[in-house]
Amino acid sequence: MEPGEEGQTRSRGRRERERTTIVWFRQDLRLQDHPALIAAVGRGGAVVPVYVWAPEEEGGWPPGAGSRWWLRRSLSSLDRDLRARGMRLIVRSGPSLVALREIVAATRADAVLWSRRYEPAALARDAKVKRALLGDGILAESFNSSLLFEPWMVLNRAGRPFQVFTPFYRSCLAQGPPAPPARAPQRLLPPQRWPDSLDVDDLRLEMDVDSAAGLKDAWTPGEAGAERALRRFLTESLIGYPGRRDRPGEPGTSRLSAHLHFGEIGPRQIWEAVEARAAAMTDPGAYRAAEAYLRQLVWREFANHILFHFPHTIDRPLREEFARFPWRRNARELRAWQAGRTGFPIVDAGMRELRRTGWMHNRTRMIAASFLVKDLLASWTVGARWFWDSLVDADLANNTLGWQWTAGCGADAAPYFRVFNPVIQGKKFDPRGDYVRANLPELHDADAQWIHAPWEGPGSASRIDPGYPPPIVDHAISRARALAAHASLR
Ligand code: FAD
Repeated sequence: MEPGEEGQTRSRGRRERERTTIVWFRQDLRLQDHPALIAAVGRGGAVVPVYVWAPEEEGGWPPGAGSRWWLRRSLSSLDRDLRARGMRLIVRSGPSLVALREIVAATRADAVLWSRRYEPAALARDAKVKRALLGDGILAESFNSSLLFEPWMVLNRAGRPFQVFTPFYRSCLAQGPPAPPARAPQRLLPPQRWPDSLDVDDLRLEMDVDSAAGLKDAWTPGEAGAERALRRFLTESLIGYPGRRDRPGEPGTSRLSAHLHFGEIGPRQIWEAVEARAAAMTDPGAYRAAEAYLRQLVWREFANHILFHFPHTIDRPLREEFARFPWRRNARELRAWQAGRTGFPIVDAGMRELRRTGWMHNRTRMIAASFLVKDLLASWTVGARWFWDSLVDADLANNTLGWQWTAGCGADAAPYFRVFNPVIQGKKFDPRGDYVRANLPELHDADAQWIHAPWEGPGSASRIDPGYPPPIVDHAISRARALAAHASLR
C-alpha cells in the first residue's frame, strides 16, 4: 500500500457504508441467481431487503387463497434465510410507492432495485414507481430474474410476437443457451439501523382454506423447498419424464410450478441443473428426457410472451371471434364442477386434488378445463377465476394460456372440435384408476373395470359408494351441443 492510500481506502469504505440500496422483492423470493441483489451488493454499502404487500395493485387479480397460503410461508422462509446472514426482510403493506419512499427516507437509501414482472398491472405500477423514484433523485432499476428470454427478445422475422409455440420454441433455442445462473452474494451488509417492519403474520395472508392440512402435507414453500423439489425430480423422475408426465397417478413431473411462480427458484437454475444431470447420466434416453422437460419450461416463457404482447387476454380471447361465443351460465353445474361432483371420476379427481392440495396435474387441468368449457359450455373466464383462487401456483401468464388453449380461443390453441372424452381420457392416462382412487374416497374400492364410468357398472357389485353422483351431462349430447355452439360463430 502506498503512503496515503490507507486513508483513501478508509474513506472509500465509509462512503460505501453510507450508500444504501433497497432491494424490492416481489415474485423473486430467493437469494440465488438474483441479479437485483447482486447489483445491490455490487454498488457497495448496505442492502435493505423489502417486501410490500399491495394486492390492490394487481389489476383485479389479487392473490387467491392458495397463493396467499404459499406466500405467507415463502416470505417467512426468505426472512429466515436473510436472518441466517445477519439480515432481515422489511415487510410493509402498500401502496408500494408510499412504502418504498418511507423506507428510502428512513434508511437514506439512494437506489431501489427489483426484478421485472410482466403482467399488465404490475408493468404499469412499476413504470409509475420508477418515474416517481427517479424524480426524487433515487436510482431505480429493474432486472430479469424470472425468464430465460424476455418477451421482446424473441420475435418472428417480421419483428412481431409469436402466436404459435413451435416456431417460438425454435427461435428461443436459436438464441443459444440461457445465461448461467449467478450464485447468491457471499456477504450482505446490513444498514446501521433497520427501518420499521411488520411481521409477516400482520399481513393476515392466510384466508380460510379448508384444505390447510392437505396443503401443509403437500408442499414446502421457500428456496430450500424449491431446491429439494428440483433435486428429487432430477434423481427420481427426470429420466421417466417423457413417458410419465401425462400420468396424473404417478409422481412423474417436477411440481416446481409454485416455486417458479414465487421465484423461489429461477428458470436459469433449472435449465443448468437439468442439462448437467442429463450429461452425467449414462442412460441413452437422458437427453430426450431433458429436452422434453426443458420444452415445458419454454411453454412458461411462451405464456409470458403472449401475456406481455397481448395483455388483454387475461379476460378477453386472443381469437376475437370467440367474443361472440354463446357461453351458458348454470350455477348448479358450476358448483358441481367446483366441488368435484360432476359424476365423471377423472374430472372430479382433478377438482378434488385441487381442493386438497392447491395443485392439479397438467393432464387433469386440461381434462377438467375442457369439461367446463365444452361439456358444460361455461366461459373459460369462470374456470380461470376458480383456478386463480384455488391454485398455489396461480400464475396470470400460465393460467390464461392454459384456459384459452383449452377453450380453443388462445395462442396455439387446441382445435375447438377436439372435445376430450373424460372416460377415454381417464382410461388412457389413469389406466388402473390410481389417481381416481387417491382423490375420490367414494371410488377408493371401485372395481378397476368401472372406475372411469361407474354408471356402466353392475350396481353394488362394482363397489362404488352410492353417494357418488351420476353424471351431470350425457357426454355425447354435450359434445354435439358444444360443436353446434362453435359452428354458430361462423
Ligand atoms: P412440469 O411438467 O414439471 O413442468 C415444469 C414447469 O414448466 C412447470 O412448473 C411450469 O412452470 C412449466 N410448464 C409446464 N407445463 C406448462 C404449460 N402447459 N404452460 C405453461 N407452463 C408450463 N401453470 C402454472 O404454473 N400456473 C397456473 O396458474 C396454471 N394454470 C393452468 C390452467 C390450465 C387450464 C392448464 C391446462 C394449465 C395450467 N398451467 C398452469 C400449466 C401446467 O398445468 C402447470 O404448470 C403444471 O401442471 C405444473 O406442474 P409441474 O411443475 O409438475 O410441471
